[in-house]
Amino acid sequence: MTLTKEDREIIEKSIRDIPDFPKKGIIFKDITTLLNNPNAFKTLINHLEERYKGYNLDYIAGIDARGFIFGSILADRLNIGFVPIRKKGKLPYTTVSEKYSLEYGFDEVEVHIDAFPKENARVLLIDDLIATGGTASAGVSLIKKVGAECVEACFILELDFLNGRKDIDTEVYSVIHID
Ligand code: AMP
Repeated sequence: MTLTKEDREIIEKSIRDIPDFPKKGIIFKDITTLLNNPNAFKTLINHLEERYKGYNLDYIAGIDARGFIFGSILADRLNIGFVPIRKKGKLPYTTVSEKYSLEYGFDEVEVHIDAFPKENARVLLIDDLIATGGTASAGVSLIKKVGAECVEACFILELDFLNGRKDIDTEVYSVIHID
């Protein structure tokens, strides 16, 4: 299901650019102005529901923290479960973890070892934005490590100039592309 030009504009215009945040040279894509705009938020979620209702998904896995917002609403629309992929040290039960590189150093994400109780679960990974792809790639690895299948990784925004999708070991879908 493709997004109409009008709907794409509604979503795109609702996202605010914040130059030099969190540091000089970065244009931060602020989705809080999408979240507080009911028309844009609903247009986005309606589109994602349309796209994914035929995918036969079992779970949505959202990345800490903005992936939780979009992922949990979409999971409810699709009547499936939601699984949080969290930054290190937040999950209380036994976890599996994956390190990934940042510009300087490393970060780590984790998921519960029994996060996807259904056997051979079909999972959609979701986050707000893909930049270098490091975070999403770690998320895809985690889903596989605990025995599920990541059928697609979905983003509201993709920074095309960083080509982060090249390292993602699954299909990639982004609603808005920034070149
Ligand atoms: P990366 O691992 O480089 O693909 O970075 C993706 C993660 O960092 C996502 O969780 C995004 O929310 C966040 N992020 C990276 N760059 C930006 C940006 N320009 N604006 C907003 N969020 C960003």
